[in-house]
Amino acid sequence: MEKNFYKDGQLETLLSYELRPEIKKFRSDENVRNSFLKDFIKVFEQIGLLELSSNYKKVLQIEKAKEILGVINLNIDGLLKLNGAQKLIELEGNISWFYCSQCGMDKDSQLIVQNKDEFVCNSCRKNILKPSIPFIGQEFSQWDMKDSWMMLNSCDNLIIFADNFLSPVTISFIHIVEKRMKNIKIICSESLNYDTFDFSSNNVDFIYESNEFFLDSLIETYGDSII
Ligand SMILES: [Zn+2]
Repeated sequence: MEKNFYKDGQLETLLSYELRPEIKKFRSDENVRNSFLKDFIKVFEQIGLLELSSNYKKVLQIEKAKEILGVINLNIDGLLKLNGAQKLIELEGNISWFYCSQCGMDKDSQLIVQNKDEFVCNSCRKNILKPSIPFIGQEFSQWDMKDSWMMLNSCDNLIIFADNFLSPVTISFIHIVEKRMKNIKIICSESLNYDTFDFSSNNVDFIYESNEFFLDSLIETYGDSII
């Protein structure tokens, strides 16, 4: 699922990778941390509470089908995980909790958004908490990347909810599945032509449908096997 799956990617835009602090500066400079926290709180003031969308509810339903190997989500809202997704990889992490890189303590983001004084590790007594999304200078989690590759190397179909955008990492996933001669369906609202990838392959189909419509058809297909 591309970054724009939830609320047209509003959260991903407001917290886009380019706007995040550099990890080295974040760790070494208290001002950088405080200014990040200010921006982070502002984002929530702008978008309000995150709520499970009807499309996410559909994803949660389909995820239960035994035919579904798993879901790779590039959205950082954390809603699927909070609502019990079992076969989910959140490749970009999620913002629903902060953690301490020194002792590993974690804390609900909402606590911090509601009260700035919570922006501190309860054990280390330092304000070094960070949400579990990569900052500039940080890569995707290598574990999650490996799990994603494993999924892509054993699936028969890759379905991408792209809308109007494909991230470089999504394109790399298409490569993996395409090399194995398996099927790739790209659900999108407009044609996506990228120099970096030749979409003329027989295995890549563009499906011009809304996410909602395609999810409904998946529910129809896998409805019987939902446990
Ligand atoms: Zn700590």
